Amino acid sequence: MEELFNKINEQEFDNLCNSVKSCELCPRMASSQRILSRASGSVSAKIMFIAEAPGRLGADQSAIPLHGDKTGHNFEALLKFANLERSELFITNAVLCNPRDTDGNNSTPTKSEIFNCTKFLKSQIELINPEIIVTLGATALHALNLIEPHSLSLKINVRTVNTWLQKKLIPLYHPGQRAMLHRSLANQRSDYQFVNDTFKQLSRKTSYRISKTSLLKEDILAIVSYILNKQKLTYFALHKIFYLIEYNSFLNFGHRLTTAYIIRQKDGPYCTDLHINRLRNSIDGLQTKFISKTSFVVYKEKESLFASTDDLSDKLSDETTKMIDYVLEKYGAKSNASLKRSVYFTRPMRNILFYENNHKINLYNTPIQFVDQFTLAT
Ligand code: SF4
Repeated sequence: MEELFNKINEQEFDNLCNSVKSCELCPRMASSQRILSRASGSVSAKIMFIAEAPGRLGADQSAIPLHGDKTGHNFEALLKFANLERSELFITNAVLCNPRDTDGNNSTPTKSEIFNCTKFLKSQIELINPEIIVTLGATALHALNLIEPHSLSLKINVRTVNTWLQKKLIPLYHPGQRAMLHRSLANQRSDYQFVNDTFKQLSRKTSYRISKTSLLKEDILAIVSYILNKQKLTYFALHKIFYLIEYNSFLNFGHRLTTAYIIRQKDGPYCTDLHINRLRNSIDGLQTKFISKTSFVVYKEKESLFASTDDLSDKLSDETTKMIDYVLEKYGAKSNASLKRSVYFTRPMRNILFYENNHKINLYNTPIQFVDQFTLAT
């Protein structure tokens, strides 16, 4: 049921992105890139960050909110400091296009531009339905006031929890360089830590719901248990093999096997659903071994593990198990280095590298778009 709900949400979100693409409400941004897509984050995120507008050298280039320029770098460093994972958040802006002055530099969105875009901001909030909204800067806080009036001001209410539309609203300063003059880096770090602490407190109160969502979805669990029943893999290899199974399924069947969220990380594809804690939560008796500074081995004792998940892997179709067998046979025995090379040769990863090289940016933590081998990056 939850999975069905997620799929409906994703579909509605894609529809919203399409409406935004055709919006021409603001004359000076009528032909700008609209920064709203799956790269904005998870549609089931519990925390939503809202900043001001895409930056010329940041989101307007990378198509990822708060990413690619100095502000994006600051923001990602603050998230990292507070142990917040970008892939588990939803990040957007009060205004979805990059406002520029007549010299082509970033400029502040006008009141009417902020007003024009509130209908999209409202739709995003309704669709994502986060438990916590974090506004970054006065513009984002003002945009919320246009949706549902509040009496908050950044200066007075910074780093406080407020109730707004039955959600927790936390006003913070913008992570841009100028805002650092008003709010020191040390204070901003504490602000982000405060967001994480608030989230943990809320999670404890709704622990039943959280523990349910921290389990692997049934289709992903079935594939993982099938893989690990067949062979012992490092944690690194498990993520790459899972990606290759999804990629080969896309090439051969025209669709992926699951809705698992797979992102580009420094060492290649990483499936956020296969986080080690989620694996441990979902699979009784799963064992991990710390081999070196970075590698885990995920393995089972043949006679004792997966008794409870055997039924699940039995539910996989013959077509699917043949696909998994094919991938395991081709890649399962490769070293981590060789496996990394193999995934980098696939079209989705080559497209990302091509884009990164052309635009001189990195797309770490962005979702990997599955495309066939003949589709090129634009
Ligand atoms: S900023 Fe928002 S309202 Fe204005 S053109 Fe872009 S998408 Fe439309």
